[in-house]
Amino acid sequence: MTGTISFDPVSLPPQADAMRSRVRDFIKREIDAGTFEPGLGPGLNRHSPEFSRKCGAQGFIGMTWPKEYGGHQHSFLERYVVTEELLAVGAPVWAHWVADRQSGPVLLRYADEEIRRAILPKIVRGECYFCIGMSEPDSGSDLFAARSTAQRCDDGWRINGRKIWTSNAHRSDYMIALLRTSPASEDNRRHGLSQFLIHMQTPGISVTPIYNMTGNHDFNEVVFDDVVVPENHLIGEADMAWKQATSELAYERSGPERFLETIYVLYELVDLAAANPGERLTEGIGRLVAQLTTLRNMSLSVAGMLEAGELPEIESALVKELGTNWEQALPGRARDLAPAGQPAPGNRMNFDQTLAYATLIAPKLTIQGGTREILRGIIARGLGLR
Ligand SMILES: Cc1cc2nc3c(=O)[nH]c(=O)nc-3n(C[C@H](O)[C@H](O)[C@H](O)COP(=O)(O)OP(=O)(O)OC[C@H]3O[C@@H](n4cnc5c(N)ncnc54)[C@H](O)[C@@H]3O)c2cc1C
Repeated sequence: MTGTISFDPVSLPPQADAMRSRVRDFIKREIDAGTFEPGLGPGLNRHSPEFSRKCGAQGFIGMTWPKEYGGHQHSFLERYVVTEELLAVGAPVWAHWVADRQSGPVLLRYADEEIRRAILPKIVRGECYFCIGMSEPDSGSDLFAARSTAQRCDDGWRINGRKIWTSNAHRSDYMIALLRTSPASEDNRRHGLSQFLIHMQTPGISVTPIYNMTGNHDFNEVVFDDVVVPENHLIGEADMAWKQATSELAYERSGPERFLETIYVLYELVDLAAANPGERLTEGIGRLVAQLTTLRNMSLSVAGMLEAGELPEIESALVKELGTNWEQALPGRARDLAPAGQPAPGNRMNFDQTLAYATLIAPKLTIQGGTREILRGIIARGLGLR
């Protein structure tokens, strides 16, 4: 895989501006009604089935999917606008997030028709939630080392093994899991893995919490002990998941969630600066905003490529690599720049609290969804450097 990296500029069409007004009105109504308080990213108690159903009712889930599966057939750019508006205020979108962003598109592309008809409309209504079962104790960056198995049996497929770091497994309806169906072939070590749809209430599944540094229970260990799923829960072609999982990662890596998870630190810094401006602080904020704008333009460009039917794997990796490094560094930069000021007025978390929380979540940002080193490897390969 060699090629050039290109980020063509994208101008948002009028429909996207109209969509922005709609989503802003919705957000304002929900904040005014006390549904949620604006705050730090999807990590902070941002799991709300109630809010997800409201998003579904507004048409903000499955936005690009065909109408025959309940979708709204909007463009990726309209979806982009909705995503960035919801994330910029820290709306509680975490319940439906994975299903909307990546599991739904995988089902749409590769799943059996009966499954598509049964599940996609529920996702669109904000009623059906997914988790991703890729990582295993000895298989994280190197997904092709996965050892959990699915073997054919009389009733379909019998699954055994263990997944780890599975975000939201304890509150998801389904997992899309990467499982070994055959040994790797001699000429292709990526061969032999398949994707499966697994209902999380199937007998034989146990989910054990893993607590993160903030003390929250977001991810888990999931053990499969003779779990049987029907034949048509194999997603796509047996043994060929490496192709499918690659396209899934392009969706996962390129969105505004890859640089907005600590954005509230910047908002609080701007509030502090308003009370106590100075040249160093103003210049520092200007620099951060310029970087953010560049990241946003790159991410928007990827949305434009998805809209054009392309699969911008390298550009997506670049957005995630630059975006997560930026959001990871933001708490430290803000701490260096912050004047000794008073907390912002109002009942939002103040600068110190926001900074403390962002500092605790920062380390994970360059690990989840592919580590820094792995992304740099993908980019280097795309440039023909390795
Ligand atoms: C908050 C969070 C949520 C997550 N949610 C999920 C989820 O929902 N589902 C899921 O399946 N997984 C999830 N993960 C797991 C995540 O995908 C893995 O942690 C990640 O892929 C890294 O794998 P690993 O932890 O096994 O580390 P390893 O792969 O063991 O890597 C350890 C270190 O070695 C480096 N390294 C590894 N290989 C190479 C190489 N070839 N070249 C250079 N350096 C290398 C890595 O960059 C890293 O620094 C989540 C992780 C986090 C932090």
